[in-house]
Amino acid sequence: MLVPTVFLVFALLLPVPLCAEAGSQDPSKVLVWVTPSGTKYHEKDCPTLKNSKNLRSITLEDALKRGLEPCSICNPPVYIGGKELYRVNNPPLRSAREGNLSRMLPATVLEVIDGDTIKVSIPNPRPIQLKAQETIRFLGIDAPETSASPRPAGYYGEEAKAYVKKLLAGKSVRLAFDWDLRDKYGRLLAYIYLTDGTCVNLHLVEQGYAFAYVHFTFQFMDEFTRAQAAAKQKKRGLWGR
Ligand SMILES: [Zn+2]
Repeated sequence: MLVPTVFLVFALLLPVPLCAEAGSQDPSKVLVWVTPSGTKYHEKDCPTLKNSKNLRSITLEDALKRGLEPCSICNPPVYIGGKELYRVNNPPLRSAREGNLSRMLPATVLEVIDGDTIKVSIPNPRPIQLKAQETIRFLGIDAPETSASPRPAGYYGEEAKAYVKKLLAGKSVRLAFDWDLRDKYGRLLAYIYLTDGTCVNLHLVEQGYAFAYVHFTFQFMDEFTRAQAAAKQKKRGLWGR
């Protein structure tokens, strides 16, 4: 889904940083919230803490030392010391086909929202920047809108969603990252790889289920642009009209 321009302009006026930085955070500096008798730790605004007394913040490091579990409602951070996310821009790869599966983050697809957005679960242990469940916006592509989208359905939107569902629903996948970890809505920006090494983002452009999305720079921009030109020439998918 494209980000409406009005939101973009509004977001630029906000004083807070909108793209999460990817460096590893120190668990002795991250705060979580607990009650004296609770067995879980929480985000500050967790609904289960609404009527709790003696609420206080402790560091994530202390919470883990005490054996507290992350709350399943508010989905607070979990730490696994030192693990960095796999980035295709550093060192820069020349092609999406060169992605190193063994360094990518495993995830399981929970739901296909449309042709370029899915929900996944990320098992423990996981890097601190990530939650147990994340919405993922596919990097470098834009699929036509579906009828479930708030924007008008685009030609081939339903076909694109159905194809991604067939490809990914319930599957175990691997995630790779690029410059920006998140978009302005907090969605994770990722390349999704099948366990056979197929980069799904590139594959969708090649098969004519999505456009190359070149408004923001990404590592495989040239490759995706060439793939789109080839799909167009072969009248694949949405280019077949
Ligand atoms: Zn909670």
